[in-house]
Amino acid sequence: MRQRAVGSWESVALLIEVRRGFGVAGDAELRAQSSKQAKTAAILGSMPLLVTGTIGIDTVHAPTGKVERVLGGSCAYFAAAASFQTRVRLVGAVGGDWPAEHRKVLRSFDNICLEGLEERPKSRTFAWGGKYHENMNSRETLFTELGVLEEAPPAVPEAYRDSEYIFLANTHPEVQMELLSHFPEHKLAVADSMDLWINIAHDELMQLFKKIDGVVINDSEAEQLTDIANPISAARKIIEMGPMFVIVKKGEHGAILVHDDGVATMPAYPADHQQVVDPTGAGDSFAGGFMGYIANSGDLSFHGLQTAMAWGTVTASFVIESFGLDGLANATKEDLANRLKFFQAAARVA
Ligand code: AMP
Repeated sequence: MRQRAVGSWESVALLIEVRRGFGVAGDAELRAQSSKQAKTAAILGSMPLLVTGTIGIDTVHAPTGKVERVLGGSCAYFAAAASFQTRVRLVGAVGGDWPAEHRKVLRSFDNICLEGLEERPKSRTFAWGGKYHENMNSRETLFTELGVLEEAPPAVPEAYRDSEYIFLANTHPEVQMELLSHFPEHKLAVADSMDLWINIAHDELMQLFKKIDGVVINDSEAEQLTDIANPISAARKIIEMGPMFVIVKKGEHGAILVHDDGVATMPAYPADHQQVVDPTGAGDSFAGGFMGYIANSGDLSFHGLQTAMAWGTVTASFVIESFGLDGLANATKEDLANRLKFFQAAARVA
């Protein structure tokens, strides 16, 4: 397993430029570009996946180091993670302060369509700062600057109207609901949420839960929402709020799926302490690998969701090994597939 040195995003962008080339715009262009890629065959048959959430300028302090103003945000992590499995259409907004290099990093991922990325020159980009504690299992938010999130939701391009798989990554629940209203015929809509929105937009969150099929949420946030510490009982309570299934993420302890058809458990990827450099975005990347697999396979069965959780877990394992998106930027689908094989062997029950 690789442990790469943490470098500046400039050096990463340069490295990626050399390895993959630039230039992702519309879906047609994506198809042409990705025909050169080994992973293309599986991707071309898959249904489009659409995500909205935050594109963030992140500052992260961890016992392993510190990075300032790197590309982050729920939408960015999700899209990068899902792009290994399927085409991803991104709907989001950034301000005039958004670094050009962040766009280059996003563009370096094959299969991310940026037609729905709105640039608002007079606005400010969402910015977030977080600090991890010594054991890396808990973090505190240092600051959250909402910026464009306080404005109108981003527009949905006409070309995105046939999207069937929708992921509402972490952002204001009103923005999540507005986005979903454009896709009444969707096959699957799943949402994430977190402490800030549970605190300041609880009613909107409850309205959202009535309209979606699945929720992916942290254990602490599931408890915050339900007042129930046990993740399975908390998930059952969330199912009463509307969705058909809930995945509770438990960090280094894996994840649990609670569904109308049963309960499934997924261990975390067995990473030792040297492999955990920065857990930021692990949850969003888990969701990206999960939804990417489903959009590619079209398998909405209970077993399909279980397999999707394994892909989500393996995808997230690359993110935690570096700051920002570096871990994913340097991985290939083959790397993910090899890690899945190792994970299957490590998690074998009988
Ligand atoms: P995770 O570690 O999976 O919880 O995701 C962390 C990412 O979420 C960071 O890149 C942040 O920019 C972004 N983020 C932090 N707070 C929020 C929030 N309240 N809403 C949406 N995204 C957020």
